[in-house]
Amino acid sequence: MTMPELPEVETIKRELNVIIGKKITDVIVNNAKVIKEPKKEKFIKDLRNVKIKQIIRKGKLLIFELSSGKSLTVHLKMTGQLIYPSHQKLGGGVNLGKIARVSFKFSDNTLLDFNDRRLFGELKIVDDWRKLKFIRELGPEPFDIDAKKFKQMLGNRKTKIKVLLMDQKFISGIGNLYANEALFRAKIHPQRPANSLSDKEKDLLLKETKNTLLEAIRYKGSSVDQYVQLSGKPGEYARYHQVYDREGEKCFKCEGKIKRISLGGRGTYFCPICQKL
Ligand SMILES: [Zn+2]
Repeated sequence: MTMPELPEVETIKRELNVIIGKKITDVIVNNAKVIKEPKKEKFIKDLRNVKIKQIIRKGKLLIFELSSGKSLTVHLKMTGQLIYPSHQKLGGGVNLGKIARVSFKFSDNTLLDFNDRRLFGELKIVDDWRKLKFIRELGPEPFDIDAKKFKQMLGNRKTKIKVLLMDQKFISGIGNLYANEALFRAKIHPQRPANSLSDKEKDLLLKETKNTLLEAIRYKGSSVDQYVQLSGKPGEYARYHQVYDREGEKCFKCEGKIKRISLGGRGTYFCPICQKL
Protein backbone atom coordinates (compact mmCIF):
# COMPACT_ATOMS: atom_id res chain seq x y z
CA MET A 1 0.00 0.00 0.00
CA THR A 2 1.25 3.44 -0.89
CA MET A 3 0.22 6.57 0.91
CA PRO A 4 -0.04 9.87 -0.92
CA GLU A 5 3.14 11.82 -0.18
CA LEU A 6 4.15 15.47 -0.54
CA PRO A 7 3.72 15.66 -4.36
CA GLU A 8 0.26 14.08 -4.31
CA VAL A 9 -1.01 16.18 -1.40
CA GLU A 10 0.54 19.33 -2.90
CA THR A 11 -1.21 18.59 -6.22
CA ILE A 12 -4.58 18.33 -4.48
CA LYS A 13 -3.84 21.43 -2.41
CA ARG A 14 -3.19 23.50 -5.54
CA GLU A 15 -6.27 22.11 -7.31
CA LEU A 16 -8.39 22.91 -4.25
CA ASN A 17 -7.86 26.63 -4.95
CA VAL A 18 -11.21 26.49 -6.78
CA ILE A 19 -13.11 26.08 -3.52
CA ILE A 20 -11.46 28.97 -1.67
CA GLY A 21 -14.15 31.51 -0.77
CA LYS A 22 -16.97 28.99 -1.11
CA LYS A 23 -19.46 28.60 1.72
CA ILE A 24 -20.27 25.17 3.12
CA THR A 25 -24.02 24.81 3.59
CA ASP A 26 -24.20 21.18 4.64
CA VAL A 27 -22.15 18.08 5.37
CA ILE A 28 -23.40 14.65 4.36
CA VAL A 29 -21.84 11.92 6.50
CA ASN A 30 -22.18 8.39 5.18
CA ASN A 31 -19.55 6.88 7.43
CA ALA A 32 -18.55 8.73 10.57
CA LYS A 33 -15.49 6.52 11.15
CA VAL A 34 -13.26 9.00 9.30
CA ILE A 35 -14.36 11.85 11.58
CA LYS A 36 -11.85 11.84 14.42
CA GLU A 37 -13.00 14.98 16.23
CA PRO A 38 -15.38 16.36 17.30
CA LYS A 39 -18.40 14.00 17.29
CA LYS A 40 -20.36 13.78 14.04
CA GLU A 41 -23.18 16.19 15.05
CA LYS A 42 -20.75 18.84 16.26
CA PHE A 43 -18.53 18.30 13.22
CA ILE A 44 -21.46 19.07 10.92
CA LYS A 45 -22.57 22.04 13.01
CA ASP A 46 -19.04 23.50 13.04
CA LEU A 47 -18.91 23.39 9.25
CA ARG A 48 -22.36 24.73 8.37
CA ASN A 49 -22.36 28.27 6.99
CA VAL A 50 -18.63 28.80 7.17
CA LYS A 51 -16.40 29.78 4.27
CA ILE A 52 -13.13 28.21 3.17
CA LYS A 53 -10.57 30.95 3.77
CA GLN A 54 -7.33 29.28 2.86
CA ILE A 55 -5.86 25.85 2.23
CA ILE A 56 -2.44 24.92 3.57
CA ARG A 57 -0.32 21.77 3.26
CA LYS A 58 2.02 20.67 6.04
CA GLY A 59 3.84 17.45 5.18
CA LYS A 60 1.08 15.08 4.07
CA LEU A 61 -1.65 16.98 5.93
CA LEU A 62 -4.18 19.35 4.34
CA ILE A 63 -5.52 22.19 6.44
CA PHE A 64 -8.66 24.09 5.45
CA GLU A 65 -8.74 27.37 7.36
CA LEU A 66 -12.33 28.42 7.94
CA SER A 67 -14.04 31.79 8.33
CA SER A 68 -15.08 30.72 11.85
CA GLY A 69 -11.44 30.75 12.93
CA LYS A 70 -11.36 26.97 13.24
CA SER A 71 -9.72 24.62 10.76
CA LEU A 72 -10.67 21.37 9.09
CA THR A 73 -7.70 19.03 8.74
CA VAL A 74 -7.68 16.20 6.22
CA HIS A 75 -5.21 13.33 6.26
CA LEU A 76 -5.74 11.03 3.28
CA LYS A 77 -3.67 8.21 4.84
CA MET A 78 -3.76 5.09 2.62
CA THR A 79 -6.89 5.28 0.48
CA GLY A 80 -8.35 8.74 1.00
CA GLN A 81 -9.38 10.78 -2.03
CA LEU A 82 -10.75 14.29 -2.39
CA ILE A 83 -12.92 14.76 -5.48
CA TYR A 84 -14.29 18.05 -6.76
CA PRO A 85 -16.69 18.60 -8.26
CA SER A 86 -18.27 15.39 -7.05
CA HIS A 87 -19.02 12.64 -9.55
CA GLN A 88 -22.21 11.89 -7.63
CA LYS A 89 -25.57 13.00 -8.86
CA LEU A 90 -27.24 15.60 -6.71
CA GLY A 91 -30.99 15.73 -6.31
CA GLY A 92 -32.16 12.15 -6.82
CA GLY A 93 -29.03 11.07 -5.05
CA VAL A 94 -28.92 7.61 -6.59
CA ASN A 95 -25.16 7.45 -6.33
CA LEU A 96 -24.93 9.43 -3.12
CA GLY A 97 -22.94 7.66 -0.49
CA LYS A 98 -21.73 4.81 -2.67
CA ILE A 99 -18.09 5.84 -2.34
CA ALA A 100 -18.05 9.15 -0.51
CA ARG A 101 -17.67 8.77 3.22
CA VAL A 102 -18.25 12.47 3.78
CA SER A 103 -19.44 15.10 1.30
CA PHE A 104 -19.22 18.84 1.80
CA LYS A 105 -21.98 20.76 0.07
CA PHE A 106 -21.38 24.35 -0.99
CA SER A 107 -23.83 27.21 -1.50
CA ASP A 108 -23.47 26.84 -5.28
CA ASN A 109 -24.79 23.26 -4.93
CA THR A 110 -21.48 21.62 -5.78
CA LEU A 111 -20.04 18.84 -3.62
CA LEU A 112 -16.54 18.06 -2.40
CA ASP A 113 -16.32 14.34 -1.71
CA PHE A 114 -14.03 12.58 0.71
CA ASN A 115 -13.75 8.99 -0.47
CA ASP A 116 -11.90 6.39 1.54
CA ARG A 117 -12.16 2.72 0.67
CA ARG A 118 -10.24 1.41 3.70
CA LEU A 119 -11.41 4.10 6.17
CA PHE A 120 -7.93 4.97 7.46
CA GLY A 121 -8.36 8.67 6.62
CA GLU A 122 -8.76 11.31 9.29
CA LEU A 123 -10.95 14.42 9.32
CA LYS A 124 -10.73 16.77 12.28
CA ILE A 125 -11.97 20.19 13.22
CA VAL A 126 -9.47 21.98 15.41
CA ASP A 127 -9.34 25.41 17.05
CA ASP A 128 -5.70 25.99 16.18
CA TRP A 129 -3.93 23.62 13.80
CA ARG A 130 -0.55 25.03 14.85
CA LYS A 131 -1.03 23.45 18.27
CA LEU A 132 -1.62 19.93 16.94
CA LYS A 133 0.94 17.42 18.20
CA PHE A 134 1.42 16.25 14.61
CA ILE A 135 2.35 19.80 13.54
CA ARG A 136 4.58 20.57 16.52
CA GLU A 137 6.59 17.41 15.91
CA LEU A 138 6.78 17.78 12.14
CA GLY A 139 10.21 18.19 10.59
CA PRO A 140 10.94 20.97 8.09
CA GLU A 141 9.61 21.01 4.54
CA PRO A 142 12.23 19.72 2.07
CA PHE A 143 12.08 22.98 0.10
CA ASP A 144 12.90 24.98 3.24
CA ILE A 145 16.18 23.14 3.77
CA ASP A 146 19.51 24.26 2.33
CA ALA A 147 22.74 22.27 2.11
CA LYS A 148 24.09 23.66 5.37
CA LYS A 149 20.93 22.93 7.32
CA PHE A 150 20.68 19.41 5.85
CA LYS A 151 24.18 18.60 7.08
CA GLN A 152 23.29 19.92 10.54
CA MET A 153 20.12 17.81 10.56
CA LEU A 154 21.99 14.64 9.60
CA GLY A 155 24.67 15.39 12.17
CA ASN A 156 26.13 12.19 13.48
CA ARG A 157 22.97 10.12 13.15
CA LYS A 158 23.52 6.43 12.57
CA THR A 159 19.98 5.68 11.37
CA LYS A 160 19.78 4.12 7.92
CA ILE A 161 19.38 6.97 5.48
CA LYS A 162 16.13 5.76 3.92
CA VAL A 163 14.48 5.26 7.31
CA LEU A 164 15.55 8.79 8.25
CA LEU A 165 14.18 10.33 5.03
CA MET A 166 10.79 8.75 5.78
CA ASP A 167 10.75 9.99 9.38
CA GLN A 168 8.22 12.87 9.44
CA LYS A 169 9.92 14.33 12.52
CA PHE A 170 13.19 14.55 10.60
CA ILE A 171 11.87 15.91 7.31
CA SER A 172 8.22 16.23 6.31
CA GLY A 173 6.29 14.89 3.33
CA ILE A 174 8.55 12.07 2.10
CA GLY A 175 7.27 8.50 2.22
CA ASN A 176 8.40 5.17 0.88
CA LEU A 177 7.98 5.90 -2.80
CA TYR A 178 9.93 9.15 -3.05
CA ALA A 179 12.60 8.02 -0.58
CA ASN A 180 13.37 5.12 -2.94
CA GLU A 181 13.44 7.38 -5.99
CA ALA A 182 15.55 10.13 -4.41
CA LEU A 183 18.16 7.67 -3.12
CA PHE A 184 18.49 6.05 -6.53
CA ARG A 185 19.01 9.41 -8.19
CA ALA A 186 21.63 10.34 -5.60
CA LYS A 187 23.30 6.89 -6.06
CA ILE A 188 23.09 6.17 -2.33
CA HIS A 189 22.30 2.71 -0.94
CA PRO A 190 19.16 2.88 1.26
CA GLN A 191 20.85 0.95 4.10
CA ARG A 192 23.79 3.34 4.49
CA PRO A 193 23.96 4.86 7.98
CA ALA A 194 23.25 8.60 7.66
CA ASN A 195 26.62 9.51 9.18
CA SER A 196 28.51 7.51 6.54
CA LEU A 197 27.51 9.92 3.77
CA SER A 198 30.21 12.25 2.50
CA ASP A 199 29.47 15.98 2.27
CA LYS A 200 29.20 15.59 -1.49
CA GLU A 201 26.67 12.79 -1.10
CA LYS A 202 24.64 14.84 1.38
CA ASP A 203 24.49 17.76 -1.06
CA LEU A 204 23.48 15.47 -3.91
CA LEU A 205 20.82 13.71 -1.84
CA LEU A 206 19.16 16.99 -0.85
CA LYS A 207 19.28 18.22 -4.44
CA GLU A 208 17.85 14.98 -5.86
CA THR A 209 15.18 14.79 -3.16
CA LYS A 210 13.94 18.25 -4.16
CA ASN A 211 14.22 17.45 -7.88
CA THR A 212 12.25 14.22 -7.48
CA LEU A 213 9.48 15.95 -5.53
CA LEU A 214 9.31 18.87 -7.98
CA GLU A 215 9.12 16.54 -10.97
CA ALA A 216 6.41 14.50 -9.29
CA ILE A 217 4.41 17.67 -8.59
CA ARG A 218 4.80 18.69 -12.23
CA TYR A 219 3.28 15.34 -13.30
CA LYS A 220 0.51 15.62 -10.64
CA GLY A 221 1.78 12.81 -8.45
CA SER A 222 1.99 9.01 -8.71
CA SER A 223 -1.20 6.98 -8.98
CA VAL A 224 0.01 3.58 -7.83
CA ASP A 225 -2.84 2.78 -5.46
CA GLN A 226 -5.88 4.91 -4.71
CA TYR A 227 -4.44 8.38 -5.24
CA VAL A 228 -6.15 10.52 -7.86
CA GLN A 229 -6.17 14.23 -8.59
CA LEU A 230 -9.08 16.41 -7.46
CA SER A 231 -10.82 15.77 -10.79
CA GLY A 232 -10.58 12.01 -10.28
CA LYS A 233 -7.92 11.64 -12.97
CA PRO A 234 -4.77 9.69 -12.09
CA GLY A 235 -1.44 11.43 -11.60
CA GLU A 236 1.11 10.76 -14.33
CA TYR A 237 4.39 10.40 -12.48
CA ALA A 238 4.35 6.59 -12.03
CA ARG A 239 5.66 6.11 -15.56
CA TYR A 240 8.81 8.03 -14.65
CA HIS A 241 9.68 5.93 -11.59
CA GLN A 242 13.25 4.65 -11.76
CA VAL A 243 13.17 1.96 -9.08
CA TYR A 244 9.88 1.90 -7.19
CA ASP A 245 7.97 -1.37 -7.79
CA ARG A 246 10.49 -2.44 -10.48
CA GLU A 247 11.99 -5.51 -8.77
CA GLY A 248 13.87 -7.70 -11.24
CA GLU A 249 13.61 -5.13 -14.03
CA LYS A 250 16.58 -3.54 -15.71
CA CYS A 251 18.12 -0.41 -14.21
CA PHE A 252 17.72 2.57 -16.56
CA LYS A 253 21.27 3.73 -15.80
CA CYS A 254 23.27 0.49 -16.02
CA GLU A 255 22.88 -3.19 -16.87
CA GLY A 256 21.99 -4.11 -13.30
CA LYS A 257 18.66 -5.42 -12.07
CA ILE A 258 16.52 -3.59 -9.51
CA LYS A 259 16.51 -5.36 -6.17
CA ARG A 260 13.85 -5.31 -3.46
CA ILE A 261 14.56 -5.66 0.23
CA SER A 262 12.48 -4.95 3.30
CA LEU A 263 13.75 -2.04 5.37
CA GLY A 264 11.87 -0.81 8.41
CA GLY A 265 8.99 -2.99 7.22
CA ARG A 266 8.73 -1.22 3.85
CA GLY A 267 9.49 -2.50 0.37
CA THR A 268 12.78 -0.90 -0.60
CA TYR A 269 13.91 -0.78 -4.22
CA PHE A 270 17.40 0.03 -5.45
CA CYS A 271 20.04 -0.84 -8.03
CA PRO A 272 22.87 -2.76 -6.33
CA ILE A 273 25.34 -1.52 -8.98
CA CYS A 274 24.44 2.19 -8.98
CA GLN A 275 23.88 2.26 -5.20
CA LYS A 276 26.75 0.52 -3.42
CA LEU A 277 26.63 -0.30 0.29
ZN1 LIG B 1 21.99 0.73 -12.01
